[in-house]
Amino acid sequence: MTKQEILLTKSGGGHIRRNYRKRRRTYAGRQTAAAALLAVLSAVFVWFYPVFQNCSNHMIFTVPETVSEPTDEVQMPILKQQPIQAECMITGAELLGGHYMYYAGPSESMVKEPGEILIALDPGHGGMDDGCVRGGVLEKELNLSISEKVKERLERMGYQVILTRDSDRAVSLKERIKTAKEAHADIYVSIHQNSSELSGVNGMELYYSVEHAADDSRRLSELIQKYSLLNTGANERSIFEWEDIYVVREAKMPSCLIETGFLTNAKERGRLKTSEYQEKLAEGIAAGVDLYFRP
Ligand SMILES: [Zn+2]
Repeated sequence: MTKQEILLTKSGGGHIRRNYRKRRRTYAGRQTAAAALLAVLSAVFVWFYPVFQNCSNHMIFTVPETVSEPTDEVQMPILKQQPIQAECMITGAELLGGHYMYYAGPSESMVKEPGEILIALDPGHGGMDDGCVRGGVLEKELNLSISEKVKERLERMGYQVILTRDSDRAVSLKERIKTAKEAHADIYVSIHQNSSELSGVNGMELYYSVEHAADDSRRLSELIQKYSLLNTGANERSIFEWEDIYVVREAKMPSCLIETGFLTNAKERGRLKTSEYQEKLAEGIAAGVDLYFRP
């Protein structure tokens, strides 16, 4: 071995070996890092699996049997069929804890307690505007009387309630909506009486708009109808999608209008003007509203 070769072996050869060891160390380091990353990712996936699963499947939760109280006597309310993706992300922690307590409900108000919920009740007509008048019964008076009874019941349940008019005075439709919006009401329920050219027509009708909060408004209408019918035994008529009713269209919040009965039907008019029947109606409307917020 020449001096030059020795030098080459010591320096050049050593350099190559060092580089080789360095490459081995780098390679081994990468392997360890990759394994660690894989382990972390696996742990994250296992931990968040219920969240991923529920979000990606758009799972629709149903009401656990133990949650809804009034189901002994009546059918379950018609549930809102909606993807729960957004809520799933918010409530992921709850899901991880194994509490699958989420069921279809009002999308924005479901996290609120009754004390935080504001309900706008709108007694139709008032002042110069009597509404429908038959047999000495004025629609505006029935609307206010029933609304006050609904208010009383809801307040007893812990809800906050505002009336768009609390006396016999004229209030424009625009003003009614303004009142509800400025108060940041969560829902809007307008109360009216119906009329028909046919004196035999009787029963309850509800209207809502698909312009805004269509699903919530539909669900609100269904629940109010269901419990009002159960409480009164009134004839079931339809729930209509109707864009021509200013208050439900312009409310923007979940809303509906209930025509509790026909003043043109003598028998129904006779019932509607009694305080007992109004109490039954009020109880039904309040129960529907309560179930809307607490399914
Ligand atoms: Zn009316």
